[in-house]
Amino acid sequence: MTKRYCDEHEVSGTELMAMRMMRKKYYADMARMQRRYKKLLVCTYPAKEMEWIEKNVDECPKDLVDFYMTSLGITNSHMAQFKKILKGELKTFSEGRTITQSVKKEVREKYHNKCACCGSSENLQLHHKEYFSNGGQNTVDNLILLCVSCHAEQHKDEHVYNLIKSKG
Ligand SMILES: [Zn+2]
Ligand SMILES: [Zn+2]
Repeated sequence: MTKRYCDEHEVSGTELMAMRMMRKKYYADMARMQRRYKKLLVCTYPAKEMEWIEKNVDECPKDLVDFYMTSLGITNSHMAQFKKILKGELKTFSEGRTITQSVKKEVREKYHNKCACCGSSENLQLHHKEYFSNGGQNTVDNLILLCVSCHAEQHKDEHVYNLIKSKG
């Protein structure tokens, strides 16, 4: 179990309900989790109140959102995807950032095993055009093949920059 914190400013009750439904959990399941992981999970909301919030609140209290995310194993990427699904902008849901072998192969073929930016064929990596953390999907359309330097360039203002560089 990992403690999760929400990046979003506004999370609606409907979105909380969607998370819970997707995980097929009831309030009792969440309460059970809380008893097991007391140090990580603090919830001051009784089940009745959570039920009411899910149905009525447009901007849920942050501590409650964190509680939902932690007890249900919901990441910020999942949250971003929910928002898009609820708005009808997205049809599929990716649980993790693992890209399947067949998608990797297709992207490599699409870019002829070359960096889409400089044409190099060494140290190639896949990059999400729309970032995974923003709800970008692990699909051929959303992935691009980049060499390690061009990839690092794409992320140069982010903390992942050094991580990518060190992998090259
Ligand atoms: Zn390149
Ligand atoms: Zn990237």
